[in-house]
Amino acid sequence: MIKLIRGFRDILPGQVELWQDIESKARVLLENFGFREIRLPIMESTELFARGIGADTDIVEKEMYTFPDSKGRGQTLRPEATASVVRSYIEHGYAGSDPVQKFYTIGPMFRHERPQKGRYRQFYQINAEMFGVASPLADVQIMYLLHLFFTGLDVPDVVTHVNSLGCPECRPKFREALISFVSDKMDRLCSDCQRRAEANPLRVIDCKVPGCKEAVQGAPSIQDHLCPDCKEHFQAVIEGLDDLNVPYEIDPRLVRGLDYYTRTTFEVQTTLLGAQNAVAGGGRYDGLVKVLGGKETPAIGFAVGFDRLAALLGAEEKDFTVPPALFIAALGEDARKIAFGWLCDFNARGLRAEMDYEGKSLKSQMKQANRFNAGRVLILGENELQNGMAVLRNMNTKEQEEVALDGLTDRVAALINQG
Ligand SMILES: [Zn+2]
Ligand SMILES: [Zn+2]
Repeated sequence: MIKLIRGFRDILPGQVELWQDIESKARVLLENFGFREIRLPIMESTELFARGIGADTDIVEKEMYTFPDSKGRGQTLRPEATASVVRSYIEHGYAGSDPVQKFYTIGPMFRHERPQKGRYRQFYQINAEMFGVASPLADVQIMYLLHLFFTGLDVPDVVTHVNSLGCPECRPKFREALISFVSDKMDRLCSDCQRRAEANPLRVIDCKVPGCKEAVQGAPSIQDHLCPDCKEHFQAVIEGLDDLNVPYEIDPRLVRGLDYYTRTTFEVQTTLLGAQNAVAGGGRYDGLVKVLGGKETPAIGFAVGFDRLAALLGAEEKDFTVPPALFIAALGEDARKIAFGWLCDFNARGLRAEMDYEGKSLKSQMKQANRFNAGRVLILGENELQNGMAVLRNMNTKEQEEVALDGLTDRVAALINQG
């Protein structure tokens, strides 16, 4: 038997209905907020991610699926979406024609991480990016949208953790303060942090290794190093969140350790299932469009971790199958022919109906109807054919009624639509 590749998975019917529901709610909300869908390839040139994510990150250093093409050029299964969206924004000339753009995209990402429960090497994200707006209103709107999204899905205790990363004006001073703080704690840091501390000290603050977390207790706070403009921007973001009643927490430890991430950074967390879980993250990347070869363009975006969100909402424990409205049980060749015509008619009307295709006994057909958990069963045997009446049974109330074969699909469809 050929099996799944390690770290990959199938999302089966029963679960997928929840995924579809989350996805359709995301689409409606994003489109109401003016975001338009952009569909991107899942493979890009490796260089895009090396420049777009940063060469000294875990993702680029060790987690990318990279393959040479026939000429030996590196191409990579996308480990995240932002770099691709920015690439597309630049490539199609939006910066020149109409720089303010809001895009969203939903799909799989690939990272070669150590497989563990709830983490997959192909995982899914909902991404949204807004270009061309430097105003803190963009930051506020995006966090408000995310808050609406999660509360709309009944995710409880949703809190947005928010911080500012400063700008090229004020961050260098913070960096220096951080480097000098970290320099005498080197022996307590993990090997990745030791190696990166000098080049990228912000990543040390962000490191999930317990020893590193402990070593950076009491580290200087970016909040104390913001320049007046960054302070003003952050203040406006906080006020906007207050005005819209978005629950938030200012979290000076929330960093993204790359130079083109600027100012607002945020993570949406929930305490559902006990532990604190991040279900979305994002922030400003005012420097990235330029880094990837475009004009200097402010931008902000977020990614929702689809897999974790679905798991939090019970995808792995509950069955989200939507039962058919009707099961047709037919006995005998003549009855089955008629039943099949009805089946096609119901399906064409947009009613989910099922039947037995194989001529099984009535008993086994009723079993099948129960397995489907069908709302109603329509029975057509030889007697019913002779009488010109089929029997319609409501499986919840157990009530039965006879329905004339003439005009039957109209009558049954009307009954089902009444509920
Ligand atoms: Zn600044
Ligand atoms: Zn570390």
